[in-house]
Amino acid sequence: MVEKRKIVLVGTGFVGMSFAYSLLNQGGVNELVLIDKDTDKAEGEAMDLAHGLSCAPSNINIKSGEYSECKDANIVVITAGVNQKPGQTRLELAKINTEIMKEITEKIVATGFKGTFIIATNPVDIMTYVVAKISGFPKNKIIGSGTVLDTARLRYILGEYFSINSKNIHAYIMGEHGDTSFVPWTHCYIGCKKITEMLEEKHQDLSILEDIYKDTQQAAYEIINKKKATYYGIGIALTKIVKAILNDEEQILTVSTEVDGEYKHKGMFIGVPAIINSNGVREILELRLTEKEQEQFDFSCNTLQNVIKTEIDPLLK
Ligand code: NAD
Repeated sequence: MVEKRKIVLVGTGFVGMSFAYSLLNQGGVNELVLIDKDTDKAEGEAMDLAHGLSCAPSNINIKSGEYSECKDANIVVITAGVNQKPGQTRLELAKINTEIMKEITEKIVATGFKGTFIIATNPVDIMTYVVAKISGFPKNKIIGSGTVLDTARLRYILGEYFSINSKNIHAYIMGEHGDTSFVPWTHCYIGCKKITEMLEEKHQDLSILEDIYKDTQQAAYEIINKKKATYYGIGIALTKIVKAILNDEEQILTVSTEVDGEYKHKGMFIGVPAIINSNGVREILELRLTEKEQEQFDFSCNTLQNVIKTEIDPLLK
């Protein structure tokens, strides 16, 4: 018997459909159901995707549908909501997208869904918190895309700088998927060599690392200014998280997960390296942060907590 591998996608906009297209190209699932409040859009997208099936690596039952489809899904991916406009920060979307997350999560939970949630809607750390609060699901089954995309961007930019394949760059962006993220540079390697050591040997100034981080952090703003939205990068990043779960991959990904004392914080969702397998988040990988890195992590947590306490918690009562 074929093992069931069913994904439901809620939100068939740019991000949702980039994820769906990436999944179609990579294969490995046997059902994909598209849901959107704009039912015509979901239907049209399902038709368009399905027409590519004879060219895809494996067959997938692709259709648009109702929330009842979530009942027996392995994973529900949520990409519904408002996106950033030029000049807008992700945190400015918090209130409006909280209302959308509440509505969607309640509908999903009402079906008896027992799988794993993956959330990409921004501000993703806060939206992941909202889904956790509304669903009451165990924390291993609530995963935000966190800084998986930021980490991929950082690896790309470092790869270009050093002329090394980005797959050999082991560097992570941690913290908020947003302006207060940071790189724990003391834990960044090219292959098995420390990046800081590599720069020192080449007599290069370590301040280049700050420039590389800034380019990474500003990438979304730059793309939004040029083409109004970002979606391919997050689309393939979501596929990576989905496959890590479905294939029980034990992959280390900087997802947004609930910290419970790790990195000296608890009760909130934030991007940290975590091991992902078929149970969702297996465990958080704790790095020994330097004093400065810990301060950066604290600042990121405090920024998110301020928004949660002042703007989000009152909406969840
Ligand atoms: P979009 O406007 O293209 O698509 C949003 C979709 O959500 C639309 O099809 C809309 O009809 C649907 N929707 C809205 N409210 C809904 C509801 N109540 N129920 C069901 N569907 C609903 O936007 P996009 O560019 O696809 O961005 C989606 C989200 O992803 C935004 O919040 C954006 O900021 C975020 N994003 C996250 C990352 C990341 O790294 N996590 C990267 C890029 C974008």
